Amino acid sequence: MKIAFIAMSGIRAENEKLVAAGLTMPGVVERSKVVASLPSLSLLTLAGMTPEPHALSYHEIDDLKKADCLPMDVDLVAISSLTAQIDDAYQIADRYRAKGITVVMGGLHVSALPEEALQHCDAVIVGEGEMTWAQLVEDADAGALDHIYRPPAGEYFDLKDAPMPRFDLLAPRAYNRITVQTSRGCPHRCDFCASSILLTPFYRVKPVEKVIAEIRQIKAIWDKPFIEFADDNSFAARPHYKALMRALKQERVKWFTEADISIANDLELLDLMREAGCRQVLVGLESPTGGGLDGVELKRNWKLKQLPDYEAAVRRIQSRGITVNGCFILGLDGHTPTVFDEVYRFVEQSGLFDVQVTVLTPFPGTPLYERLRTEGRLLDERAWRKCTLFDVNFEPANMSVEELEDGFLQLVQRLYDPDFTDARRRRFIEMCHARDDEDWSAALVRDAG
Ligand code: SF4
Repeated sequence: MKIAFIAMSGIRAENEKLVAAGLTMPGVVERSKVVASLPSLSLLTLAGMTPEPHALSYHEIDDLKKADCLPMDVDLVAISSLTAQIDDAYQIADRYRAKGITVVMGGLHVSALPEEALQHCDAVIVGEGEMTWAQLVEDADAGALDHIYRPPAGEYFDLKDAPMPRFDLLAPRAYNRITVQTSRGCPHRCDFCASSILLTPFYRVKPVEKVIAEIRQIKAIWDKPFIEFADDNSFAARPHYKALMRALKQERVKWFTEADISIANDLELLDLMREAGCRQVLVGLESPTGGGLDGVELKRNWKLKQLPDYEAAVRRIQSRGITVNGCFILGLDGHTPTVFDEVYRFVEQSGLFDVQVTVLTPFPGTPLYERLRTEGRLLDERAWRKCTLFDVNFEPANMSVEELEDGFLQLVQRLYDPDFTDARRRRFIEMCHARDDEDWSAALVRDAG
């Protein structure tokens, strides 16, 4: 068979005021743009599991749109899409099916809503695709495709068996960041989280030698690759990650990842990260106030317990030469209109190198979506186009929709003011320079204090 993998890339927001006044400002969507320009690791991984002699190709939807053509000389199309682009993905699936071409879809959105997706495609992959892809390809080849492919209950993919993703399917010059997954899942469970915790209740790591093999494969294609670890929470298994950091140091690559704030308590880990090439860690701080954090993490209210150490933790991480991109979610139930000033104040005082603010977004399949739906607080239960992280699709608990939209916009304008950003970045750079000349621990105490 000829199989085309199509990734739904690109970002946009529905909120016209934000688009007109804010979304074009540098910094506002920096992180979202980076995410949108990453290749789809899940599709490259499925490609890596596809047996010969099938012929494979990989496409970004934005490139296909620019060229105004879809690859039609194929037998099977596999589409992966985030919620915000799902309506576009359905339209593309409809076009293929109208030509008699088989379409399968996967990803978090269709895993949550397989029946919806089946109105537009022939088969849906629910959950971890690695568990069912080989069977799906075999069935499609035999003309006996089923409608839903899901792993047996209670079974999850072992990352020891992870295939080498088909990085070679990518056009090298089209990507300046390449993704590698080192773990799946997260030990926490946040109300709003639409990540791999929806696919697996367990935290699992990929063996060090497999991660290193992927990095080497990437280095064979790209001269100086910047790696983005496609993890939801790296470092939750400390001894494993320390071993990975020691191995990674030899590879001399620069990289970015996401982690929780607890890494700030392990100075040995931070030093290993820095030596292994870590340039930035993205941390979901979510809220600078206890009211906002209370109840966000559903197992042990873990995030609320970290709040007293937030500022010092950011400084400790940055004092080791790793920049922090702190993420805040606006519109949490404990947020009142004062939260916008409180976020600004936290960013200023902590000296965060980068900051990302988003609007609370009820993605299908999350506890948040179900809670807001039950409480009658969703503005539109199927407004998937609004799941952009910048659009409001719910009634906030302690402010109006307009207060959230306007407060968010004003906060964005203040946070991404070039002078404010430059001042924070200068502080980080000056600290790094100073640290090189001073006693290490004295500098750490000073910077943390
Ligand atoms: S800590 Fe992050 S990855 Fe883990 S559940 Fe919360 S939002 Fe999701």
